[in-house]
Amino acid sequence: MSETSTIGADRAVSLKYTLSGTDGSVIESGQIDYLHGYQNIVPGLESALDGAEVGANLQVEVPPELGYGARLEVPPQRVPRESFPAEMEIAEGMQFHARGPAGEALPVWVVGVEEGVVLIDPNHPLAGETLHFDVTILSVRDATSEELQHGHIHGPDGHGHH
Ligand code: ZN
Repeated sequence: MSETSTIGADRAVSLKYTLSGTDGSVIESGQIDYLHGYQNIVPGLESALDGAEVGANLQVEVPPELGYGARLEVPPQRVPRESFPAEMEIAEGMQFHARGPAGEALPVWVVGVEEGVVLIDPNHPLAGETLHFDVTILSVRDATSEELQHGHIHGPDGHGHH
């Protein structure tokens, strides 16, 4: 076991994953590159990866409270279409930020579009779900000091993202 290939705080991790629901159907799959220890991925997955080695394959089950949260049983909010910019295309599954009571940005999701009305829900589409991750760790390296300052990793050409 070599320390340089182990996932831990302040390390940049590259992994490929498949995310399945409780019924075994694949929800999404792909590759993520993230900075470990900065809550860039769901907490249940991040803690399961702590101490894992390059090349390892892990099956991780994440309960809703360590994933995208419990589902809030609230009816969708009906927002007039005019509240959104006219030129903006609005479709189910899109995410926006609404203003909370203290002016904070709250994520909301479009769950339906009707004549003149957009239906908005505060639940992440995967809220309330137990998540099943199949993860293979591709690489682990030390993050740069700039990445640590920003709390996320940067691409191979440095700083192209913002
Ligand atoms: Zn940055």
